[in-house]
Amino acid sequence: GRRPGLDVVLVGDDAASQVYVRNKAKACEEAGMRGEVHRLPATTTQPELVALLRGLCARDDVDGVLVQLPLPRHLDEAAVLDVVDPARDVDGFHPVNAGALLVGRPTLAPCTPLGCMRLLEHAGVALEGARAVVVGRSNIVGKPMALLLLQRSATVTVAHSRTRELAQLCAEADVLVAAVGRAGLVRGAWVKPGATVLDVGINRGADGKLVGDVAFDEARERAAWITPVPGGVGPMTIACLLENTLRAAWRRAGYAPAEFSL
Ligand code: NAD
Repeated sequence: GRRPGLDVVLVGDDAASQVYVRNKAKACEEAGMRGEVHRLPATTTQPELVALLRGLCARDDVDGVLVQLPLPRHLDEAAVLDVVDPARDVDGFHPVNAGALLVGRPTLAPCTPLGCMRLLEHAGVALEGARAVVVGRSNIVGKPMALLLLQRSATVTVAHSRTRELAQLCAEADVLVAAVGRAGLVRGAWVKPGATVLDVGINRGADGKLVGDVAFDEARERAAWITPVPGGVGPMTIACLLENTLRAAWRRAGYAPAEFSL
């Protein structure tokens, strides 16, 4: 009987963040949801931000609350994320939701890895027993990605900046996820023939164009499936934000439809 609603909080004037929050609110409106952006100055104090978040989380028409990261340096990111009601935490960053993902309970999972899972499902990639390598161990992408793949019974290895022999490791992967933030780090020769490659990275190339973490033109020669940058994982992140907002709205209304299970 009502529209699901997402409230996005942006502190400061980071150019990339401005674009991201605009796209998120626009996607909500296009899908028939309420999407609102709360823009706060870079000088916003921790108590001011906490007060706004508490207020939003107390409103009945607010199903999802998202704090756009990164926050200005003077703000305590972890303490801010802790204030978001776990039931409205559509980014899946609250420790309660991260913990639920770890122990395999239904939860709001982070949107980018969730989007990657939706791509794998859509392409019909077999995950059970498959070797998956996730490059990157951030709380936002790498770690939750590894947990979602593990939940689907893949054999998962998480690589990071201290990993030795990264190329050989990647070359064993049936599913290779790159979430690093280094243009062209993953070369074509690192890709096992027939592998599925998900490129999460968003980097600005020397010519100003957006590129991923994977050398796409090389890797596409070997991969069975590969996502481009832009136009691959990025749009799926937004789609899954809408999915999570809808999921949060249904849950708060007392429904738990089977199609929303992870
Ligand atoms: P992050 O900086 O938090 O984490 C990067 C990870 O890469 C770290 O765990 C680090 O150990 C690892 N790493 C760094 N150098 C490495 C190297 N040489 N070899 C192997 N591992 C290395 O970044 P993040 O937030 O996880 O984001 C990663 C990338 O994904 C960025 O480019 C970011 O812009 C992009 N991203 C895209 C989306 C999307 O919607 N498509 C969403 C979130 C992040």
